[in-house]
Amino acid sequence: LITIADDPRTLGELGEFGLIRALTQRLPPSPRALVGIGDDAAVLATPDGRVVATTDFLLEGRHFRRDWSTGRDVGHKAAARSLADVAAMGAAPTALLVALAVPPDLPVGWALDLAAGLAAECERAGASVIGGDTAQAPDVRLAVTGLGDLAGRPPVLRSGAAPGDVVAVAGPLGHAAAGLALLSSGLRETSPSLVAAHLRPEPPYDAGPEAAGLGATAMIDVSDGLLADLGHVARASGVLIDLDPALLRPAEVLRTPGGSSARPGNPDHAQALRWVLTGGEDHSLVATFPPGLTLPARWTVIGRVLSSQDMLANQGTPTGQGALGVLVAGQPWQGGLGWDHFA
Ligand SMILES: [Mg+2]
Repeated sequence: LITIADDPRTLGELGEFGLIRALTQRLPPSPRALVGIGDDAAVLATPDGRVVATTDFLLEGRHFRRDWSTGRDVGHKAAARSLADVAAMGAAPTALLVALAVPPDLPVGWALDLAAGLAAECERAGASVIGGDTAQAPDVRLAVTGLGDLAGRPPVLRSGAAPGDVVAVAGPLGHAAAGLALLSSGLRETSPSLVAAHLRPEPPYDAGPEAAGLGATAMIDVSDGLLADLGHVARASGVLIDLDPALLRPAEVLRTPGGSSARPGNPDHAQALRWVLTGGEDHSLVATFPPGLTLPARWTVIGRVLSSQDMLANQGTPTGQGALGVLVAGQPWQGGLGWDHFA
């Protein structure tokens, strides 16, 4: 799949059916589809008998900017957002359905790049695009439905964390937020890897089924920020989670993006820790596991679910803003929370 950024036509000139044909050519067929793209609907084999299903918007101006992201970046991100949710249930991603609305003056090459990005991210996840729809809109809008397979295992819910469990994460934390901060400050060249983490997050999809197989009691992907997302787990499970800042260790690249402390916008350690705790959109997986397990190396233990005794001792912990059922070193975090879509 190559970049076709120099196709001089617009989508208005190509027409809807021309667009669908061009997009479909860039989407490999699914080995699980009994009926693939081209009929009124696809038919998917589901050997497990259950289907994990989730849907997500990706809206221009809200979730991406066309002056920052290529079509290919947006394709990767659109697929990653949905397929990470599938993996966070402990399922293997299988398929993607993509509803796409575009302005008529959008270059054809941009849309074909988008399809290439969708296909490439699906391949990372072991999934395929099996259908979709196109329409006109004043800007680029995607609604993406992800499907997945539990392979006979129970789903890993948000509500299963138990006192004494350990909390562990697979994948980076804070990188996408740091990349967004660099883009927003016009410092794109400072750290291409952090910027890439924002434009094209790389969820560790296979860590989802791996965690399920290891006996994870709860799991979520980090889309809104570690504190906010673990807060969902803590509330759904009725537990208090305590994160150990010594275990969180912001990656070196977060502390010195670009490798020079003299650069403007270069964060100190506190900023790096803030990105780790509250930065969203990395789509890493965070899970709780029963104590005493030996976890594979990619899972980093970052805290624990407090025991019933600890929870009693924490009954005086203030609630409301700053206390979402998640503590940092035994204290409510005072540095602000993650992304709230309606804030
Ligand atoms: Mg999620």
